[in-house]
Amino acid sequence: MKVLKFGGTSVGSIKNIKSVKEIITDGDKKIVVLSAMSGTTNALVEISDYIKAKDIDAALNCIEVLSQKYIVVIDELFENSQLKQEVGNYIDAIFEYLTSLTSEKHTELLYNKIVSQGELMSTYMFTKFLNQEGVNARLLPALEFMRIDKTNDPDVFYIKQNLQRIIDEALPADIYITQGFICLDAYGNVANLQRGGSDYTATIIGGVIEADEVQIWTDIDGMHNNDPRFVKNTHAISNLSFDEAAELAYFGAKILHPQTVMPAQEANIPVRLKNTEDPESYGTLISQETHGDGIKAIAAKDNITAIKIKSARMLLAHGFLKKVFEIFEKYETSIDMITTSEIAVSLTIDNDKNLAAIIEELEKFSLVEVDNQQSIICLVGHSVVKHHETHRLFKVLQDISVRMISYGGSNNNISLLVNTNDKIATLQHLNKYVFEDVEAL
Ligand code: ADP
Ligand code: ASP
Ligand code: MG
Repeated sequence: MKVLKFGGTSVGSIKNIKSVKEIITDGDKKIVVLSAMSGTTNALVEISDYIKAKDIDAALNCIEVLSQKYIVVIDELFENSQLKQEVGNYIDAIFEYLTSLTSEKHTELLYNKIVSQGELMSTYMFTKFLNQEGVNARLLPALEFMRIDKTNDPDVFYIKQNLQRIIDEALPADIYITQGFICLDAYGNVANLQRGGSDYTATIIGGVIEADEVQIWTDIDGMHNNDPRFVKNTHAISNLSFDEAAELAYFGAKILHPQTVMPAQEANIPVRLKNTEDPESYGTLISQETHGDGIKAIAAKDNITAIKIKSARMLLAHGFLKKVFEIFEKYETSIDMITTSEIAVSLTIDNDKNLAAIIEELEKFSLVEVDNQQSIICLVGHSVVKHHETHRLFKVLQDISVRMISYGGSNNNISLLVNTNDKIATLQHLNKYVFEDVEAL
């Protein structure tokens, strides 16, 4: 069985919803994971932000604007008045629930309750639409089987047991629809897999059912060799290894949620990235196989904090790094990049929740400098460090001030740390030096 995930734009218009129906009705039994309609989760986050800021009028206004959008969609998507009524009642109840939440105190749980509504709406509407079109589709509620544990990792044992149970209990169907993104936490409260998490839902499900393939359908024809939002003339990469795709997703290629690759890689399930608006295009196939050497793609990750730890005592002292790492471990903060010299260590973190406490402890034995607003630019491929054309990337040093370089840590990745203000220029220059000049040879 395959697992197909469709993102926000794929279910964001009547035209695309109809395309999704065409794509999934090929006669094969499958599980379909849906995101919320595009714009919905952002609107829900905004509603939560207004409640947090105690601006209830703005929150109510946002709810009203969003509900109008759904009224239009229901009207266009459903033909008979009884079905329109049934779906309308479900969506009305969701908006009434959202309205009732505006009088509650803002907490993380309240945020989680609010942002979970988008996927509940899209999956309900889409299942009813498929039924209207004569497709034997059934909804598998994610909150009945998708759960994370206390460390926020998927609780695979629970998911496997409960997914199997609800499939067995449901009436037979050709297509099972479920919500991406949303889940329960270890205490049974509604939670989520973080923004963009529907991709991750798809590979988690793929892993537990040992799917033949996971497909991520989106609004672009696969993983591009650079960020198409900032760089012109990027192109889709036909094949990526799990390691290459994981690095790109982790280091900011928005097309995939950072953790998507892991469950697929563990179970060796190929992941195909496809374009809903151009289903014929090949897309990208992510698998165990490696195709070609050298730099294949560039991605950027923002909100990085760089920390320089200087200590005269580091000179020739063993055990210094251990002391540093123990502090980061104590505050459960993982380190992405690291460079060292005899008297200083520079490292980066992407989670500054415990930064103040970390600095306080580091300052007990060193001088600490912190730079916020940094971005990691990651160049990914196979054997990039050894490849004869890799040196080209260093031409970028002529144009941009690079704060750190991590080279040789892995065979698949070279990372540069730059000020976020220089991110777009760095991506553009690197594109020229690494890809365009090479093509001109
Ligand atoms: P969905 O809503 O379907 O999950 P996303 O917006 O999360 O879609 O991801 C698709 C978007 O990712 C593309 O429209 C593109 O702008 C962006 N993107 C960023 N980096 C890349 C990349 N390297 N390759 C392809 N798309 C990328
Ligand atoms: N709807 C969620 C979000 O916008 C999850 C997703 O789209 O993957 O973050
Ligand atoms: Mg996404």
